[in-house]
Amino acid sequence: MTNDPKAPGLRRAPVAELPQVHQIVLPTPWEVGPVQIYLIEGDPITLVDTGVRSEPSRAALAAALDALGVGFEDVRRVVLTHHHGDHLGQAQSLRSAGADLEVLAHEAERELVENFSEDREEDIVATRALFTEHGVPGELLDRQAEMRRRWISEDPVLCEPTRVDRELRSGDRIGFKDFDLEVIHAPGHTAGHLLLHEPCSRTLFTGDHLMGDAVPFTETYYESGAPDPRDPLARRPRFRGLPAYMASLRELRGRSFRTILPAHGGIVERPSRCIEDAILFYEVRVQRIERALEKLSAECGATAWEIWCSLFPKADPVTQMRTRMLMVIGGLDVLEDAGRAVPERRADGVIAYRPR
Ligand SMILES: [Zn+2]
Repeated sequence: MTNDPKAPGLRRAPVAELPQVHQIVLPTPWEVGPVQIYLIEGDPITLVDTGVRSEPSRAALAAALDALGVGFEDVRRVVLTHHHGDHLGQAQSLRSAGADLEVLAHEAERELVENFSEDREEDIVATRALFTEHGVPGELLDRQAEMRRRWISEDPVLCEPTRVDRELRSGDRIGFKDFDLEVIHAPGHTAGHLLLHEPCSRTLFTGDHLMGDAVPFTETYYESGAPDPRDPLARRPRFRGLPAYMASLRELRGRSFRTILPAHGGIVERPSRCIEDAILFYEVRVQRIERALEKLSAECGATAWEIWCSLFPKADPVTQMRTRMLMVIGGLDVLEDAGRAVPERRADGVIAYRPR
């Protein structure tokens, strides 16, 4: 393998104290760049994540396994950090290759792994409802939905659903001959994202929760169930990724890790700096959202969409709306939880916020 950490290939035993673990870098066609998965030798041979389902990704995985003397059919266990396509993508292909495979994922990811769908029509409809409630004009949402449907129809299918054989929760252990991995539930990027910790070497597998070169977006979406009767605004229950992400990072703060093995961005040798950087990244953004709210809301409060327009005047409202809107809504969730913003429902049903 070359010294370029982004080149597809195999990096053997990147953690000297944990020689059973190898990093495999697989290509994705996406802006995020290649994804890093991990093979753990031992009984059973285990993969942490699987890469996208594409021919270049399959070939790169086959070459790396071959170099380790492992066939597809020898992989007996897959642990998924979360359900996104560059993590779940090839799990079913491994199973179809004849492997007697056990797939493990957090209980909150099970449905998303088993019913993964590239068509994501439900997601488009749910995002539309969420953004409408937060003030985005219908005409922009029409254009955004049209763009996403076109993008989905032109995109090759890079992921397949698969069966989850074992649901994981915080504190569970995944056993190997010489060591155990401890499961840590770390919601935020997704509701059931998990981390794996090897306590002797203090190595943490982080998926997208902590990365070497980026900070993940956090999901926000409606969940099933009736509105909380204690909520005066009668809002639908919602997974609120950013407050969950911040809380989970703060829990990691007190623990001393030596090495992070992430899904993107090489290997992290200074875990506490990486954790602090991710906290600071979002603290700065929440501050900017709070300042925009104070500036805009003199008379009748401000919606998430009005804050978006004020913070990103040059961004394209169709192609660049989604992740930034999720961040603004997430920032307002953080401010609301901290008692620094108060939501209210306008006559047209849209939610606006006032600073406190
Ligand atoms: Zn992800």
